[in-house]
Amino acid sequence: MSTARRLQPFGTTIFAEMTRLAQEHDAVNLSQGFPDEDGPEIIRRTAAEAALAGPNQYAPLPGLPELRAEIARVFEAASGLPTDANAHVTVTSGCTEAIAASMIGLLNPGDRIVLFEPYYDSYRAAVAMADAVPVFVTLRAPDFTFDEAELRRACEGARAILVNTPHNPTGHVYGREELSLIAELCQQHDMIALTDEVYEHLVFDCEHHRLSTWPGMSERTVTMSSLGKTYSLTGWKVGWVVASPELTRGVRSAHQFLTFSVPTPLQHGAVAALQLPPSYYNEFRSSFRARRDLLTEGLLDLGFRVKPSEGTYFLLADHTPFGFADDRTFCEHITRELGVAAIPPSVFYENREHGHPLVRFAFCKSEATLSEALRRLRGLIG
Ligand code: GLN
Repeated sequence: MSTARRLQPFGTTIFAEMTRLAQEHDAVNLSQGFPDEDGPEIIRRTAAEAALAGPNQYAPLPGLPELRAEIARVFEAASGLPTDANAHVTVTSGCTEAIAASMIGLLNPGDRIVLFEPYYDSYRAAVAMADAVPVFVTLRAPDFTFDEAELRRACEGARAILVNTPHNPTGHVYGREELSLIAELCQQHDMIALTDEVYEHLVFDCEHHRLSTWPGMSERTVTMSSLGKTYSLTGWKVGWVVASPELTRGVRSAHQFLTFSVPTPLQHGAVAALQLPPSYYNEFRSSFRARRDLLTEGLLDLGFRVKPSEGTYFLLADHTPFGFADDRTFCEHITRELGVAAIPPSVFYENREHGHPLVRFAFCKSEATLSEALRRLRGLIG
């Protein structure tokens, strides 16, 4: 008896592995992306009160009507697209379930789906669970954009494409030109687009664009986001999907059998989250910009080459000035010997070698935590 063949290649996710190693060595954990401060009290209090008041029974399969109404309102305001809470919105157990439900509910076995690498690790496993076939397009250093000809080739015969913007782990935010080409190819090849936009509020020097707003794209785009990153509640695992009624039917057909529904009290909390005033998002963004700058400048000072992060709460740095064989050796060294954990990005590539020179640091930590990590990393220069 052993793990099914379709999941054997993926082993244990790097996030669990590095956080365990960080705990074992009492390391400052800049690996798995979770903030060291919990999100707004009003959201947590609303969920706690809902749990005490009850009922604590199953929420409706597509999500609490009040929450879907809020998601529809917020999405419509941001995108300008008419959004109906019943026909277009589904609440899922985080964006990770949204991705799996979209793939399982919308792809047939053998369908090709274009993924950009480096990719967030669950995408590759979700494709395998859907018995679909991944086709890879590489985002190349230094600015982590793609080659047009490579993308055009990959889309031939493909049924779907997954776009994650702002992009984990590179910090790249897809620009208008990139999304215009993707939209053109989706229509040319009659593809659906799945978009993971969980870092939509974490853009620093540019704008977040939604693929669904391109002409002809709202009918063929499955837009996904979540509560975890925007409200520093990663442990809640509350996410959502906005899609056309036809695509929504496919997503729900899988969602109903994956999780059925999402914890009721947390959905009440999510309503309070989506009702926060605009000032919340401005403060959130500027506090993360300050943390990004602190970590970027500190790493440059130590001798890393750093890719400026345009969005997300991650940045990629080039560790090769320090002479380690590859990203794993580097990350194990800094965790065990210096007490700082980071992610080796080769796990996010089909061709692992592309990730060997790189290391991913999370900056969703207090300034004190980041300064302590930088102090410890001075060990690299003796
Ligand atoms: N999205 C988070 C990251 O990239 C981790 C999610 C997880 O641990 N599964 O670090």
